[in-house]
Amino acid sequence: MRVFLVFLLGILLTNQPMKAQTPSKPSSSEIYHSIQKLNFLGSALYIAAHPDDENTRMIAYLSNNTKARTGYLSLTRGDGGQNLIGPELRELLGVLRTQELLAARHVDGGEQFFSRANDFGYSKHPDETLKIWNKDAVLSDVVWAIRKFQPDIIINRFDHRSPGTTHGHHTASAMLSFEAFDLANNSNLYKEQLKYVEPWQPKRLFFNTSWWFYGSQEKFEKADKSKMLNVDVGVFYPSLGLSNNEIASIASSQHLCQGFGRLTTRGSENEYIELLKGDMPTDKSNIFDGIDTSWSRIKGGKAIGDILNKVEDNFNFENPAIHLPQLVEAFNLLQNTKNEHWKTLKSKELENLIVEISGLYLEVSSKDPISNPGGKADFVVEVLNRSSADMNLVSFGIPFLNSIENTNIVLKENEKHNFELSVQIADDAKYTSPYWLSEKGTLGMYKVNNQELIGKPETPRDVNAEFVLDINGTKFTFTKPVIYRSAQPDKGEIYQPFEILPVASASFKDKVLIFADGQPKTVPVTIKAHKNNIKGELQFCFSDGWKVDQETKSFTIEKKGDVQTVNFVLTPPDHEDESYISPIIKINGKTISKELATIDYDHVPLQSVLLHSEAKVVRLNIEKVGEHIGYIVGAGDAVPESLEQIGYTVHTIDVNAINSSSLKKYDAVVVGIRAYNVLPELRFKQKYLLDYVKDGGNLVIQYNTAGRRDRAYEDIAPFKLKLSRDRVTDENSPVEIIAKNHALVNFPNKIEEKDFEGWVQERGLYFPNEWAKEFTPILSMKDQGENATKGSLLVAPYGKGNYIYSGLSFFRELPAGVSGAYKLFANMLSTGKEKVDNEPKIKG
Ligand SMILES: [Zn+2]
Repeated sequence: MRVFLVFLLGILLTNQPMKAQTPSKPSSSEIYHSIQKLNFLGSALYIAAHPDDENTRMIAYLSNNTKARTGYLSLTRGDGGQNLIGPELRELLGVLRTQELLAARHVDGGEQFFSRANDFGYSKHPDETLKIWNKDAVLSDVVWAIRKFQPDIIINRFDHRSPGTTHGHHTASAMLSFEAFDLANNSNLYKEQLKYVEPWQPKRLFFNTSWWFYGSQEKFEKADKSKMLNVDVGVFYPSLGLSNNEIASIASSQHLCQGFGRLTTRGSENEYIELLKGDMPTDKSNIFDGIDTSWSRIKGGKAIGDILNKVEDNFNFENPAIHLPQLVEAFNLLQNTKNEHWKTLKSKELENLIVEISGLYLEVSSKDPISNPGGKADFVVEVLNRSSADMNLVSFGIPFLNSIENTNIVLKENEKHNFELSVQIADDAKYTSPYWLSEKGTLGMYKVNNQELIGKPETPRDVNAEFVLDINGTKFTFTKPVIYRSAQPDKGEIYQPFEILPVASASFKDKVLIFADGQPKTVPVTIKAHKNNIKGELQFCFSDGWKVDQETKSFTIEKKGDVQTVNFVLTPPDHEDESYISPIIKINGKTISKELATIDYDHVPLQSVLLHSEAKVVRLNIEKVGEHIGYIVGAGDAVPESLEQIGYTVHTIDVNAINSSSLKKYDAVVVGIRAYNVLPELRFKQKYLLDYVKDGGNLVIQYNTAGRRDRAYEDIAPFKLKLSRDRVTDENSPVEIIAKNHALVNFPNKIEEKDFEGWVQERGLYFPNEWAKEFTPILSMKDQGENATKGSLLVAPYGKGNYIYSGLSFFRELPAGVSGAYKLFANMLSTGKEKVDNEPKIKG
């Protein structure tokens, strides 16, 4: 089975590489597929809110069966989600998910676009979403995407008519698309865009419905389908060796950080789309019915179509290069047409096809993956014509680096030419990093000042190679990204982008430092060299009231890639305080305040992200009882590290090793997020956990998810406790302490309403909504316009100890350094221990 899957991927890789930098090496049947696409002049744009919302069956169908230019506009990059494969969260997760979307589009043949909207977290209603996003700015981005892409057809993933039934981002994406459909053609709106694009009126707007939106298959069968089209998305493509749904599953399997790896499927399968705007096609199996998608669509296009349709009809699979003269002729005719939109798109496709059918190999690879402003870089150039066609290499080089070599070399069949380039990088060359992260945005929006960058999935790279070739009397300029390639013994040949980075970067190991008392802490700063032999000083920046042992310390690093750690000793103020610290590197009169995050996975190209380097420092007056905490890791969270910051010693508990005596040594036991969801064996240890409480321990359970219709986890507590899908998503929503006299909010720290200020992303989720009378609800909270829920924090005495269940989002608040959350957590671990002396149970 594994061999088979690798084989499938192998086929697909040749046409649509997983990694953007890996050059495409299509077979002649894949080239034929591209020629069919070349002869289709129509486009469809799919619109939703997040990475993974897109229906890849529909995108693959439009791109590979209809052969339309197909795009996916995901309003956000998915920063707010969780990561199942590594440590990236928030903006770094957005970078990873952007690349996963690009990998998915490489497989299904679509193109990828975004808006400036940020995935700030869950919202229950589109009204809330559109308040946090800047509605007009996101709407203008949807209009911009439509004007730029010029789709004939737009398909929404979600229903704009059902606010409140799904994530607010989802409905908002459909509502904005519904509005933008009419606005994009209005030249009085978003005039600043008209410098770059023209108004555009799409022809049809659809909603990609399914039984899911109707509640059941039965209800959907009975639904009125007079406004619906349906297409078979299980069609088989012999030229690709794959069924459409196989391509779709391989595409959505790229969303690995969301745990979307899945089996491929085949066979006939229906997708329904409901017409919302525009005219109903007469042929209900053809989404483009009545729209001219032939070359005649553009003035002067018919003659081009005559040539290219003949190439398609008589395609030579054994020697596709014999079609080169026709492709060159069509290219020349295309240059005389006036429709700039199609001219640009189809010229690019023709250029790619000319390279592909002649087996042209054009590559500039750097000898080093990184260089720096003011530094040197050496490149190897490879030029090879693998066809019998006549070609001349006129020039090659890297225009951005002012390096162009003029030549006049005849490229004979299969005769390889190698050249070397040695280049000085300008002092003011820009670093390569995601454009949407270069300036601080708001909670709901990225800040992007350059209109032309808006919507682009990645920052366009400056360092590109250009090859000018004379083919059949016509000069072509082929542009390729400059890459770095290496042989890795355990992986084979690896391509990665060539990057310009600062000579060094500095980062804090911990992004949040909690000072639970007045004691100083050692703060290590890691400096990484991106150049050989660097020598400089590191300055430690901090706020008033804090003290550091020495503000500036010097460092020397000999080898590129090496790191050095410089330690500073930071003393907090006497009073409670929150502020930020940052490191500044000073080398030869220049300063660098960036840290480098590298995202490296097999399914996406390596990403280098430069972020402002800083850490939050928090001085708390926090009291606690007990020291040794046992922690059962669930789906993964950073709560243990956070507890260590305030002085606890945290021991990870192996679930299988839990027995009747193994927990006794802990002052409290904490169960990590979703532990009951991901650790089936935890059920079998429940008795020991409850016995531990009975004997006087404190057991703190963090949130577990309740299934939509199945498990409510009624048996995880000693008394009845039913989980629900209740959540409070507004992190600023008011919190009322309803059990004011309970020890949990009084000992050892007094918890007040102000301790719920400064929370991030949400209050909590999956709160219980039914519980036995033994439980005391401590807090009451609600989102605007909803009924209050009291299930966020429940405590029940059991035997001599306390059982505590909390859906509060400690896993988000503690790593973000939220003071009140720390105090409340310390109280959960300490409650009921007022009379216990503070003698540690584990010595030493
Ligand atoms: Zn979504």
